[in-house]
Amino acid sequence: MSLKPIRIVLLGAPGSGKGTLTTRLLKNVSQLNSLSTGDILRREMQQNSEIGITAKNYIKNGQLLPDHLMAQLLNNELSKLGWLSNESSWLLDGFPRTIGQAEELDKNLDPFNCNVNSVVELDVPPEVILERIENRWVHIPSGRVYNLQYNPPKVPGKDDITGEPLSKRDDDKPEIFKLRLDSYFKELEPLKEYYYKKNILRTVSGETSDIVFPKLLDLVLQEFKK
Ligand code: AMP
Repeated sequence: MSLKPIRIVLLGAPGSGKGTLTTRLLKNVSQLNSLSTGDILRREMQQNSEIGITAKNYIKNGQLLPDHLMAQLLNNELSKLGWLSNESSWLLDGFPRTIGQAEELDKNLDPFNCNVNSVVELDVPPEVILERIENRWVHIPSGRVYNLQYNPPKVPGKDDITGEPLSKRDDDKPEIFKLRLDSYFKELEPLKEYYYKKNILRTVSGETSDIVFPKLLDLVLQEFKK
């Protein structure tokens, strides 16, 4: 059976499990690759690159970077990876976050005829998210995410693959996290409407990634067969 290329946008609040679910999805769906704009920015910050230095000021205050800058960063990354092609399947985690970004993304993808064809909203109750953030630790170079409750590292405080130390994200501090959550919900409705009108928006709900994951996997596999 030949499978249709699928290009997914994963919409979800910070802490809704986008990173964890993406990792699980990639293990189950070999055709899929993923790109997280948060991971790209954190890597740039570690390298003290120009964009990394700019990003630091926004991220530490829980603010979004300007749309045009982000759209360009993502486009460069898609181009570098060779994903600007109608043949490729990929998933975007953390982009677009505003309607301006969604429009720029379409504009950049149009010439390659590789527009997004599936948008999945992860609907997780805010109180669950807040609890989860308190338990979140990350391995910054790879973007691997651990949760002390659901998905602890094999050795406390160490990344499973490299053994390097895990860190707490500065922007997971409660007062900054609250700003990020507010900004997500403010941008969410227009973004959902944008994709709803294109008839590509789906929602999966659940309190834990174990509940959400089978629903997400099912949805993605269905899309491949359409
Ligand atoms: P994340 O890991 O996706 O939660 O992203 C961490 C931070 O990076 C966000 O709080 C923003 O400051 C910034 N960021 C990531 N993706 C975007 C985006 N698409 N637009 C603007 N800022 C972003």
